[in-house]
Amino acid sequence: MNKIKKCKQCQTDIPLEAKKCPRCQSDQRNWFQRHPSKTIALIFIALSLTLVTLMTFISYSIEKVIPQNEIDTLKGDLWKWAEGRWDNLQIEQNKGTLVIRVYAKSEANEVALSNYCRVIKESAQKNISDYNERRSSEKIISILQNGKFGKSCF
Ligand SMILES: [Zn+2]
Repeated sequence: MNKIKKCKQCQTDIPLEAKKCPRCQSDQRNWFQRHPSKTIALIFIALSLTLVTLMTFISYSIEKVIPQNEIDTLKGDLWKWAEGRWDNLQIEQNKGTLVIRVYAKSEANEVALSNYCRVIKESAQKNISDYNERRSSEKIISILQNGKFGKSCF
């Protein structure tokens, strides 16, 4: 094996392990060898970025999507129960977040709205297999009256 390399500066043959050229004194080390603390900082930044990316990916993957048939059943159930008590019902899910919007009839009072919340929650628990495991922030239920926000129930 040839244990000789050429100087980066003057092209003289120098020992492979030489950190400095014996002839022109030029530094033969690469950027990382010359800057160990900056190298450690870079490795640390790279690892942090990798970890953040990985965590984001993992948290995104565990945001379970509710199967469409469960949403359809819930919607059918709630709509059947409503029997004219409300004007409209919308159920959406966005990246695992369940959003239920009920457009209540304008004459609905506080007691009626609370009753709607109870029915919506019970129906969701019955029809959506993992409803109880979902974080409360994922169970957004809001009741709107006259197009305005009326009540929020979790
Ligand atoms: Zn040299």
